[in-house]
Amino acid sequence: MNILVVNCGSSSLKFQLIDSDTEQVSASGNCERIGLDGMITYKAHGEKFVTETDLPEHGIAIKKVLELLVDKERGVISSLDEIHAVGHRMVHGGEKFSSSVIITEDVIKDIESCNDLAPLHNPANILGVRACQEVMPGVKHVAVFDTAFHQTMPAKAYLYALPKEYYEKYGVRRYGFHGTSHSFVSKETIKFADLDPKTAKVIVCHLGNGASISASIGGKCVDTSMGLTPLEGLIMGTRSGDLDPAIIEYLCNHENLTVSEMLNILNKKSGVLGMSGGISSDFRDLNAAANEGNEVAKVTLEAYAYRVAKYIGSYTAAMNGVDAITFTAGVGENAAWLRPMVCKYLGFLGVELDEAASEKACGVEGIISTPESKVKLCVIPTNEELAIARETLALVK
Ligand code: ADP
Repeated sequence: MNILVVNCGSSSLKFQLIDSDTEQVSASGNCERIGLDGMITYKAHGEKFVTETDLPEHGIAIKKVLELLVDKERGVISSLDEIHAVGHRMVHGGEKFSSSVIITEDVIKDIESCNDLAPLHNPANILGVRACQEVMPGVKHVAVFDTAFHQTMPAKAYLYALPKEYYEKYGVRRYGFHGTSHSFVSKETIKFADLDPKTAKVIVCHLGNGASISASIGGKCVDTSMGLTPLEGLIMGTRSGDLDPAIIEYLCNHENLTVSEMLNILNKKSGVLGMSGGISSDFRDLNAAANEGNEVAKVTLEAYAYRVAKYIGSYTAAMNGVDAITFTAGVGENAAWLRPMVCKYLGFLGVELDEAASEKACGVEGIISTPESKVKLCVIPTNEELAIARETLALVK
């Protein structure tokens, strides 16, 4: 079966056509600058093409993608009938969706009722669904939510210590994000580290540009670091993660900023970019600067690793133990130098990093703990598109 995976942003539409039998990607790409000038990057048959083309709206973008997929030279299928289902990435399913669903009009209404919680993302995701439904009315469309995996969290983990009316009136609670990745990587960890799928206690560190960490028991999420929005938790590329909420008023007063301006700073100008005094949000640049002796870069990376280690410690307490800790996403998969910086705090758990194995496991799966380590350490590359394709297949089969 061919599954088209679509991830629609406000001005972009990323796609992959995945053969569910082999789990191989036959074509992939990205439509960018939708509503502006328009550009399509398309990869198939080991080649990459970039075309500048008018993309006034998402409907046109998806039509052009489908034309490319069936194109005589560049295409990978001979007709659209060969696309059996479409899996759509959805950012926020609120408390309404604890798993993926086949999209109906009622489902769209329910997703729209969560728009308030993700005003930048959900409307764009729905736009993508509408555009695809129009050109592919005969196939099933499936919604796969970033928040769904975390819906198994108990109330003690998702409630904030705020007056309870705010949860009741507005749904203010921890939702968590990157759920498709956490779900995929925690399941892969159980297989790869040969753990008991019913009882395994797994911590997944999804360290990318955005970063979050999850704790799961037997494949069910019990806690995660992102909250009502993806701002809470770890230090990220440009996001602050946890801080004293009173800082917001303090800085608004001193810098004469509005709350939205402050939130923009916390989302876009903080994290390792802000802490390092603007060196970079990219961990390769920060590591290079630290290696050249830049003290600010060094302390930024130390603070980053320290925050990850503190979350691992607290989630180990939350689960009363941990069987495996997995690193994933851009930084987690590739930055071998970061792993000793995190693991040096975890000796009390019997964690022993095998540095040579860790150096080898860059962008590929690997067990990076010593045979004596009491906790298995793993690197598992995340693959959100494949996870969406698997979820879609399971619903349409
Ligand atoms: P997102 O999907 O959130 O945009 P990714 O998971 O693709 O993020 O991660 C992107 C980040 O991964 C980049 O900001 C970069 O800092 C980091 N990264 C990629 N390759 C490396 C590497 N070899 N070493 C260190 N960091 C890397």
